[in-house]
Amino acid sequence: MASGNAIRGSRVGAGPMGEAERGEAAARQFVSFWCAHGHETRPSFAAEAVIPDAWDCPRCGLPASQDETNPPPAPRNEPYKTHLAYVKERRTDSDGEAILDEALASLRRRRGEP
Ligand SMILES: [Zn+2]
Repeated sequence: MASGNAIRGSRVGAGPMGEAERGEAAARQFVSFWCAHGHETRPSFAAEAVIPDAWDCPRCGLPASQDETNPPPAPRNEPYKTHLAYVKERRTDSDGEAILDEALASLRRRRGEP
């Protein structure tokens, strides 16, 4: 069957081989963040990635910071579950790269727009 080429362009880097190559080639660094509830999360970043000042806690959705003694204050209302928390419930750890990329993009947008 010659159907393989037709599918190829539709999923960029989604193949199992692509994931393995990316994971092994990219150096990782783990950074701890703490939210106001004391939850610790340790996402991994590419070595060249810019570490964000804040991170959404995957357990309660509150913002978390790298300073355990001074977590960011909890927002007054949390009308909906964060996208990150929602995605993490549905996905397995093998999709962590995609989740982190998405979260990073979200954080950059939030910081860029006052
Ligand atoms: Zn939390």
